[in-house]
Amino acid sequence: MSLYEMPITKLSGIGEKRASLFRKLGINTVGDMISYYPRAYDNWACTTPICELADGERYVVRARVSTPVSSTRISGGRLLAKLSVSDETGSMNLVFFNNKYISSMLRYGEEYRFMGRVTRDRFGVQMTSPEFAAAATADAMTPVYNLTAGLTNRVLVKAAKEALSMLPEVIKDPLPYDILHRYDLCPLSYALTNIHFPLDVGAMERARRRLIFEELLTLNLGMRLMKSRSREDTAVHMPTDYTGEFIKTLPFELTGAQKRAVADCVSDMRDKPSPMNRLIQGDVGSGKTAVCAAVCYHTVKNGYQAAFMAPTEILAQQHFETFSKMFDGTAVRIELLTGSMTAAEKRKTRERIENGESDIVIGTHALLSESTVFLNLGCAITDEQHRFGVAQRAKLASKGEHPHVLVLSATPIPRTLGLIIYGDLDITIIDELPPGRTEIDTLYIHEDKRDRALGFIKKQVDEGRQAYIVCPLVEEGEGDMELHSANDYAAELMLGAFRDYPVGILHGKMKAKEKEEVMARFAKNEIAILVATTVVEVGVDVKNATVMMIENAERFGLSTLHQLRGRVGRGRYKSYCILVSDNRGESTELRLGTMCRTNNGFEIADMDLKLRGPGDFFGNRQHGLPQLAIADFSDTETLAQSQEAAEYLLKISPDLGNDAMRPLRAKIRQLFSTTENTMN
Ligand code: ADP
Ligand code: MG
Repeated sequence: MSLYEMPITKLSGIGEKRASLFRKLGINTVGDMISYYPRAYDNWACTTPICELADGERYVVRARVSTPVSSTRISGGRLLAKLSVSDETGSMNLVFFNNKYISSMLRYGEEYRFMGRVTRDRFGVQMTSPEFAAAATADAMTPVYNLTAGLTNRVLVKAAKEALSMLPEVIKDPLPYDILHRYDLCPLSYALTNIHFPLDVGAMERARRRLIFEELLTLNLGMRLMKSRSREDTAVHMPTDYTGEFIKTLPFELTGAQKRAVADCVSDMRDKPSPMNRLIQGDVGSGKTAVCAAVCYHTVKNGYQAAFMAPTEILAQQHFETFSKMFDGTAVRIELLTGSMTAAEKRKTRERIENGESDIVIGTHALLSESTVFLNLGCAITDEQHRFGVAQRAKLASKGEHPHVLVLSATPIPRTLGLIIYGDLDITIIDELPPGRTEIDTLYIHEDKRDRALGFIKKQVDEGRQAYIVCPLVEEGEGDMELHSANDYAAELMLGAFRDYPVGILHGKMKAKEKEEVMARFAKNEIAILVATTVVEVGVDVKNATVMMIENAERFGLSTLHQLRGRVGRGRYKSYCILVSDNRGESTELRLGTMCRTNNGFEIADMDLKLRGPGDFFGNRQHGLPQLAIADFSDTETLAQSQEAAEYLLKISPDLGNDAMRPLRAKIRQLFSTTENTMN
């Protein structure tokens, strides 16, 4: 049995109860434990003199016990043990709770290493319940793992140690020998041992580099394989260009960039044996929806169905309404399919799709379900593609016979990452906004100016305009906190500043139907001020809204702020974005300053990348790639090497069909199997 099939309960001391905590960390098997790499290391060799300890930081201190241990009982019958230790530079107090063995473990006059978080105040320097070891023996690095409530680092360290001891004598290395040799990589067994329990910093770095390389290589190969499949000949033929007659019916003239985008698509769908595989990148508000509608019309007139997938119900609903208007008076039949529809509605809709009674199907993930079957899907479009996993995009395309694929994105991707994410996707950039847009004014204010900002919003509303206010950000995974904080915050505004104004609230925990209702009322201006979480980030289009105020602006990535700002300035009214933050740190000033200085999405993305590094650029999972365990994209050298290696391997074994590549194929499958469940 492989270690990846052996349940974690096989390790000593892990019963059902603990196993459920391990599962929260994604560790189900002994193999998963081995792949659960430490977040950091405590280096017992790296000690700090007591006089240099700063408040709130974690340290290793080498010091001698300078007082006997004094034990007292405190409230609740708890035992408190206190002692002092000192080195040449000062002394520090240690406190332990409920450990009656302290006096026998720490001997007066002996020297130890103590590790823990330090508090420094007017009572002196103190560590509470530090870990400790004899001064002479403690020289190794110990792993620090990400934890969950109820699991201590100690338990994980023990589990990792035991799991590693179960590794077979000889491990099959998925990396072929020539690759190891060429890129000077250590063998897998060495890497696994030393990523958890490094002999020293050098060993840890060798282990890391090898594991990062392997992960990037696996990712590269997986992406390349997926793409080569999408290059098979298409069965969908679209010889006639029908886009002209559609564009004529639009209430506006397409911009030059929009026209070029449409022309690119038409030529892809007409002139090549392989399906279109195109990305349209355009800043928020650049008019990607109209381009996509033209492509859908073209598809339908050539005798095929088109599918248009959006990441949220709100957006799908909105696209449906936009399309219904645009196609009014044509024979094109448009269908909406979302998860919140009743089972009966969904069934009927799916029947029409399967019988070919619908031409354009707009929907959410519901489109991907097995039960959605198209009669003849000719073109599969995904909006805001960074919200979807690679596998999901492929799945939509699999509902036709190599249909044409179009993806729309408002997130500019730096070139280094683009190569992995899009590879040989053809790219059209819409670098022009529709005419008549007025530049959005962006202001960055401290919280003491909030009242004035609220007053400004009132004035705008009095003039007939509308506003968004984005709630203070609650960390992801805090569950009901989002709901509470959004509700509390809205209540504060409704009872306070906006007592006499129609205020609505929109957050992710609401039912889809409720969200739709609120958005619909906002669109009709029955709600003047919409208090919302970042669910309004994507795509919503209300032309009358002129103010976007964002609380705790420092907590959002620049790309998110830019998306949020894109919700206003969509009509003919002068619009404003107000960033509220009390954080006066240098990086906040720089980041929010950038927002005030420019409205250019590409420039903002560049700055975001510079300031946060590529690892954070997309947030955790906005790039549509599988979740990586150890690699990120900041190590450009390893990235380039892994790309070169992937090309080499595919050259000697196209499709990796060769038997020696079996372990590597298994790795790819394993990596990409995580895509779907990590994507929302
Ligand atoms: P995005 O690229 O962010 O998806 P949309 O497609 O939602 O942008 O378009 C933003 C707004 O601009 C919509 O209200 C749309 O009707 C309008 N629009 C699109 N193209 C043009 C154009 N060429 N001229 C005027 N308005 C346009
Ligand atoms: Mg859009």
